[in-house]
Amino acid sequence: MSGEPLPWHEDLWRQLQQRQAAGRLPHALLLTGPAGLGKGVFARRLAQGLLCESPDAQGNACSHCRACHLFQAGSHPDYTVIRPEEEHKGIEHSSPKKKSSVIKIDQIRDFCVFLGYTSQYGGYKIVLLEPADRLHTNAANSLLKTLEEPPANSLLLLVTAQPARLPATVRSRCQVIRFKPPSPKVAVPWLASRLSGKLEPAALLNVASGAPLAALAYAGEERWHRRQELMGSYEQVIVGQIDPIQAAETWVQGDLAENLRWLISWHTDLIRLKMSPDSTHLNNPDLRPVLRDWMAQQSPLRLFERLDAAIHLHALCVLTQTNTQLLLEVFFSGSPANDESNIFVNKRIQG
Ligand SMILES: [Zn+2]
Repeated sequence: MSGEPLPWHEDLWRQLQQRQAAGRLPHALLLTGPAGLGKGVFARRLAQGLLCESPDAQGNACSHCRACHLFQAGSHPDYTVIRPEEEHKGIEHSSPKKKSSVIKIDQIRDFCVFLGYTSQYGGYKIVLLEPADRLHTNAANSLLKTLEEPPANSLLLLVTAQPARLPATVRSRCQVIRFKPPSPKVAVPWLASRLSGKLEPAALLNVASGAPLAALAYAGEERWHRRQELMGSYEQVIVGQIDPIQAAETWVQGDLAENLRWLISWHTDLIRLKMSPDSTHLNNPDLRPVLRDWMAQQSPLRLFERLDAAIHLHALCVLTQTNTQLLLEVFFSGSPANDESNIFVNKRIQG
C-alpha cells in the first residue's frame, strides 16, 4: 500500500494541507497512534504530494509526472527512507523479525548530509523515519541538531506507534499528528469492500481494536488460522488434554508478540464476560461461546490474576531475551487443569 488516500485520514490531511498552503508546514512531524491506522501510508502520501510537479487542489500527487514516477520507483533524489537496518520490510503493523534492530547513528549522519545538499528538483527534501521509536540513543542525540536547526525546505516525518520510547527532547521538537481509530461507520464499509468470503468486517475490526489495516491483515487466512490454532491449544491445556510443555511448544512458534497479544485480548474478554455475561463490547465477539465456557470455570479474582500473568508474560517475552518456552510453560501450568503441575515445571527448572 503506497500513498493511497484512506477515508479516516481526511480531516488530518485537510488540516495539514491548509498549513502547507499558508506556508506553515512544520519541519518535523511526529505521526503517532496505534498500529494499523496507516500512519506510514499517510506519510508517503504527504511526501509524494509535496514532491509532485502537478498535485491536485487537495494536495494529492498526480502519479504521472517525472517526480511521481521517481517516487514510485523508490528513487526520487529528494526523498529518503530510514528504517532499522535489519528491518523486515512489510506493512507497518507486521512485527519485525529482529526485535533488537535499531536505527543507527551512521544512518542519521547520512541523512543529515542528505538534507544539507540543495534539493535536486528545487522543492522539498524529505526524510521518513519508520519506525522512529527504534532510534538508537546516540542516533536520537545526533538527530536533535537537525531538529533544532532544520535546513530550509526540509521535512522530517517520524512515524511511530510508541512515541513514549522516543526521547522527550526529540518529541518536543516535532509537531505531533495523532491518528485515532475511525468510527465503525467509516471503517466497516472500507474493510467490507476489501474482504472476500465469509469474514465479518465488524468482528475483525473488534479483534484489531478498531484499526482497519490491522483488521485487513487479520483477514489473511494464515493469521486467522494461526489464531484458531492457538485457541485450540489453549483450550486443550485448560481442560488437561495436553500438558503445559506441549502448549508452550505451539505458542512459542511464529510471532510471539502477536500470540501473546491474542492471549491478553482473550483474558480481557473473559473479565468482561464475568462482569457482564451479555457484554456487547468484546475484542473477540466470534469467540463468545468458548470464552463463556472458560469464564464459567474461574472466579473473578482468578481471572484478574490470569490477565496480570498474561500481561507480565508479554512484557517478559517481548522486551527481554529470556527463555520464552519456559515462561510459557509456567503460564500454562497455572491454567485450571494444571494447578498442581507447578511441581512438574519446577522439576524442569531444577533439572
Ligand atoms: Zn506527480
